[in-house]
Amino acid sequence: MTNLLNFNQTQLADYFVSIGEKPFRAKQLMRWMHHFGVRDFGQMTDIAKVLREKLKLEAEIGVPEVLLEQVSDDGTRKWLIGADEANSIEAVFIPEDARGTLCISSQVGCALACTFCSTGRQGFNRNLSASEIIGQLWVANNALRQTDGYDMLPAGERIISNVVMMGMGEPLANYDSVVTAMQIMLDDSAYGLSRRCVTLSTSGLVPAMDRLKEDCPVALAVSLHAPNDALRDEIVPINKKYPIKDLMAACERYLVKAPRDFVTFEYVMLDGVNDTVEHARQLLTVVKNVPCKFNLIPFNPFKNSGYETSKTSHIRVFRDILMAAGYVVTVRKTRGDDIDAACGQLAGKVLDKTKRSFKHVAIEVAV
Ligand code: SAH
Ligand code: SF4
Repeated sequence: MTNLLNFNQTQLADYFVSIGEKPFRAKQLMRWMHHFGVRDFGQMTDIAKVLREKLKLEAEIGVPEVLLEQVSDDGTRKWLIGADEANSIEAVFIPEDARGTLCISSQVGCALACTFCSTGRQGFNRNLSASEIIGQLWVANNALRQTDGYDMLPAGERIISNVVMMGMGEPLANYDSVVTAMQIMLDDSAYGLSRRCVTLSTSGLVPAMDRLKEDCPVALAVSLHAPNDALRDEIVPINKKYPIKDLMAACERYLVKAPRDFVTFEYVMLDGVNDTVEHARQLLTVVKNVPCKFNLIPFNPFKNSGYETSKTSHIRVFRDILMAAGYVVTVRKTRGDDIDAACGQLAGKVLDKTKRSFKHVAIEVAV
């Protein structure tokens, strides 16, 4: 069975040609699958009956299985989604007054091992397929439609207006599937999201950033987290391969093609590690050539992390230094705290193939 959820519109058109059908069927199928959330070919009334029967025999619209749905006191919702028998991932919906943001995962675990990230600590199992990535949007849309009366919204309005690739995994380490899934998000026949409202967050895979700006430019967030290579090498180990200077140059190149005229630098606030006045001043020097905003993320604790969240007063001082230099700075509010849905807390279930999580256990035991 071919899972049609894996295809963007061009790939779907190729599929139809490959089974001897007209390529324009792709647009119709995209609307049924993604726009209306229909999985049953029998219900696709503008498609000839013979073709519907043929599709039933050789294709499917395979969406990932929801294992658990949790709703926080603040309205945040989290879905635990099965990737296979041994693994699961998480997606989170964050409702706000003027928008609704869905945070989705791109990998089962993550191989990049940032020290303050619970996903990084779990190790890596595998990449998600395009259908598993776009399937998170499909699942969330359908769940919200059922409970919030999605169909009653005025034309053009969407409950999910924004998508951020900030869940489990490093999206640029799963490049092809992530790009295909984002193309489906942007497709008017599917979810019709604006490029400015789809944000990819990366820890800084420089060559993939250069590819992304050509293949599928969307809003970019970069997990900077440290203002010098010595500290970044330690807490974001990929920095050893792509140090800060190269990363900043890649940001400048990205902005030439980006839908927004700034990069958002994410900066996790770790008590006593990266949150001093000196760090803030260094940060200003480091980013000076990149038009940017800052998003300070108070560290969200998890068991045995070894880190503490910066004190509120320190976060304020840090923010004020950046603001005084003329930057827009937001301090990320923690949402969905009661259901462990905050940044860096998404854990799912990862059967580690790298054996890294065992090393962490060993270290914890030794300490
Ligand atoms: N791999 C990508 C995207 C997923 S993480 C990346 O690293 O950018 C999304 C954001 O949450 C990143 O900025 C990440 O550094 C941050 N994050 C990870 N663990 C965190 C934690 N425990 N507390 C706060 N933010 C965290
Ligand atoms: Fe991976 Fe991002 Fe976590 Fe780093 S912060 S380990 S890149 S998911």
